[in-house]
Amino acid sequence: MEIMPGIHRVGGVRGANAYLVIGEDETLAIDTGMPGNAKRIVAYIEGLGKNLSDIKFIILTHADIDHIGSAAELKRTTGARLVIHADDAPILRGKQSFKTIRGPLGFIFKLAMSLMHYHPAEPDIILSADSEIKGFRIIHVPGHTHGSICVYKPNKVIFVGDALRSDSSGNPKPPSRMFSLDEAKARASLITISALDFDTLLTGHGAPVVSNASQKVKNMVTRLS
Ligand SMILES: [Zn+2]
Repeated sequence: MEIMPGIHRVGGVRGANAYLVIGEDETLAIDTGMPGNAKRIVAYIEGLGKNLSDIKFIILTHADIDHIGSAAELKRTTGARLVIHADDAPILRGKQSFKTIRGPLGFIFKLAMSLMHYHPAEPDIILSADSEIKGFRIIHVPGHTHGSICVYKPNKVIFVGDALRSDSSGNPKPPSRMFSLDEAKARASLITISALDFDTLLTGHGAPVVSNASQKVKNMVTRLS
């Protein structure tokens, strides 16, 4: 589905939303869904008449399995470079286990994780400071995980991963408390995002927040405080 000119959400991807930014001859992929979704993303790109080698970067907003699950396979089929923040890179590489959650659901969560077949992937670009890729600013927004990042084009669009959620009608929602590794940092990151200007907000889970999205986020933050 084309959300706005050149920005697509790949339909049918299980887990988190997977997005594509289609440029003239370069494409960025943002997040990959659960394991087993690479074929869907590839089919979508081919459906647009693009070459797989047009995908130059796969940017991972954070290393939860519903976002990085198909990263290894998508990298293998496209030759794109995998981008992740340094604090989440060990999980992507399979050197550190996925995060655990507290509370009664923790056990079920852990059990579900053990049933997934995660294929580790080697990152090509490991970020340790805010940076820029193809005109998009990459901003560190820790909290949901230690290495969560946003992908931001000023005054236009922001991809926030799970630093924020949205409902099915496209209203912003605060990040999930249960799945936050550090709630205080997640709140601080929410303030960071609310200070930016963007028309469209694209979350890891939920519908696109369109038209004056940054004002909607600011209003939400005001209501929360
Ligand atoms: Zn997620």
